[in-house]
Amino acid sequence: MTTARTVADLVSAGLVVPQQAPALAAVAARYAIAVTPYLQSLIAADPKGPIARQYLPDPRELENRPEERDDPIGDRAHMPVPGVVHRYPDRVLLKLIHACAVYCRFCFRREMVGPGGDGLSPEALEQGLRYIRQHPEIWEVILTGGDPLVLTPRRLGAVVADLAAIDHVAVVRLHTRIPLADPERITAALIDVLRPSQAAVWIAVHCNHPAELTPEACAALARLADAGVPLVSQTVLLRGINDDVATLDQLFRALVRARVKPYYLHHPDLAPGTGHFRLSLAEGQALVRRLRGRLSGLCQPHYVLDIPGGHGKVPVGPGYLHDVVEGGGEAEVEDWQGHRHPYP
Ligand SMILES: *Cc1c(COP(=O)(O)O)cnc(C)c1O
Ligand code: SF4
Repeated sequence: MTTARTVADLVSAGLVVPQQAPALAAVAARYAIAVTPYLQSLIAADPKGPIARQYLPDPRELENRPEERDDPIGDRAHMPVPGVVHRYPDRVLLKLIHACAVYCRFCFRREMVGPGGDGLSPEALEQGLRYIRQHPEIWEVILTGGDPLVLTPRRLGAVVADLAAIDHVAVVRLHTRIPLADPERITAALIDVLRPSQAAVWIAVHCNHPAELTPEACAALARLADAGVPLVSQTVLLRGINDDVATLDQLFRALVRARVKPYYLHHPDLAPGTGHFRLSLAEGQALVRRLRGRLSGLCQPHYVLDIPGGHGKVPVGPGYLHDVVEGGGEAEVEDWQGHRHPYP
């Protein structure tokens, strides 16, 4: 089996019925498709399940809503040199490559990611590294894109080593889907390059549903954790995939069990053609409120919104503090069961 990259590939893998092909061809012409052999077998076992819905194209992706935008989180507004996004003083994104191993149908960078192109040219990479070297306030470099683990261990290792060698860079964070999309790619050779001595490498795994945490995926995460690579997760809150308390409960417990700390629960971004996945902030807050108390603190991610237009991420979880006396010193604090208590 090879990675399915066209509607015809999906039809021959038996994941899409031929009658759907014409409608999906129009989606494929607009947004990239990639489903790894590993995910194809998971989808074959549950053809309409939560993994299928994250990766198989859907005609609704061609519906655009007025509030949607090509660059939903405003990356372009903060790009001092190609491949570098510098929105917060102490950290930058370094986008090494546009490609991913798989293409999520709700991707917030769907207008920018896709196959083709080798990513940053050697000259652009050198320019990006120079920018980071010249900005001592940069404490953390986040490799994203695209999925940095698509690169060979040799190419990725060279970049990690160059970054770790910069005195003021203390942390290199990699955002990836590979442990859950193609777990065999978490090899000893790859793990080797993720342990430079001069900086800490952290991995943020993108995971949206407990069904993604198969024995193979958990084994890949265990190889990283055993090697001492700290792991956190990012989850996108998605209608029809994980927008219920039972699923989120299982997901966050399974992540912690796999030694991955749930970091962010992202409210879905306003990416084009993703309206069928979106829910309202009020719905998201109601879900997050029900997780509080029900789940260990270790299992609680921050519920965040990336403010459209490039203004950064902020927590949008429900508040538990209520002012009682105007301008006075007294407040009421709400507990996880909804009871209010005074706090002087
Ligand atoms: C999300 C993001 C980061 C990382 O934000 P954290 O809150 O530190 O995880 C950094 N830069 C940009 C441009 C981002 O979009
Ligand atoms: S892995 Fe991330 S960047 Fe790649 S398609 Fe999925 S959401 Fe987009």
